[in-house]
Amino acid sequence: LEEQLRQSQKMEAVGQLTGGIAHDFNNLLTGISGSLELISTCMARGRIQEMERFIEVAQGAATRAAALTHRLLAFSRRQTLDPRPTDANRLVAGMEELVRRTVGPAISLQVVPGAGLWPILIDHHQLENALLNLCINARDAMPEGGRLTIETANRPMDAAEAGALDLPPGAYVSVCVSDTGTGMTPEVAAKAFDPFFTTKPLGQGTGLGLSMIYGFARQSGGQARICSAPGEGTTICLYLPRHEGASAAEGTGEAPHGMAPA
Ligand code: ADP
Repeated sequence: LEEQLRQSQKMEAVGQLTGGIAHDFNNLLTGISGSLELISTCMARGRIQEMERFIEVAQGAATRAAALTHRLLAFSRRQTLDPRPTDANRLVAGMEELVRRTVGPAISLQVVPGAGLWPILIDHHQLENALLNLCINARDAMPEGGRLTIETANRPMDAAEAGALDLPPGAYVSVCVSDTGTGMTPEVAAKAFDPFFTTKPLGQGTGLGLSMIYGFARQSGGQARICSAPGEGTTICLYLPRHEGASAAEGTGEAPHGMAPA
């Protein structure tokens, strides 16, 4: 639990750092759109020389914005994955107390563990961070309280099911976090995984939580999906590939890998 708290504090620091970057990025974008506006005004009035100056300003801001995103990408890539065979039910059970404390007494937490759940090969610290993030988003969507559910299940997928999720057919484990909160409009749901997309007031949201979760799911050979409608709450599911390696890999003396970090 100590470790969990340290992790969530670290996430908060990450949030502050990335929030700062988002803010800088936003300022640069404002500079770029301002310059573009001035350029079109100059164009309308035939003031070519002034136009050149504003083009330079916009180019400079765009270059700095690109440098910022590179810094952010370099930062996120440093968090290389350390996948290990993991029982998602055990991981969720180990987080229950922290989640309960984080969401507060107005939200009732329900954990629904899938029976005979397959193991997954996953970086369990990252999975914990992802789930904690999803629970914090759920809490934010339920200011008056509500119900938060964490559910796991085995998901064998044929070609059609897997294809619909842009995954190869095979065996997956789903870990879903549902809330009875505000829900998302289709427009918000379509953008929710984008980096820096947030509907929260400045300083309260970084817009990076879901994009990091999406990146983590994809890096782990899985997928993340949102199911949400205004007034009907939100379910966000991670689909993570079943770990088949253990016995077979031991038999051939091979190390059980199969996922490249970053
Ligand atoms: P942040 O939480 O910092 O805004 P995220 O990437 O975690 O960034 O989420 C992006 C946006 O997706 C949120 O601002 C919110 O509009 C929407 N969202 C995420 N989770 C939920 C949820 N459980 N219910 C309703 N909306 C959500």
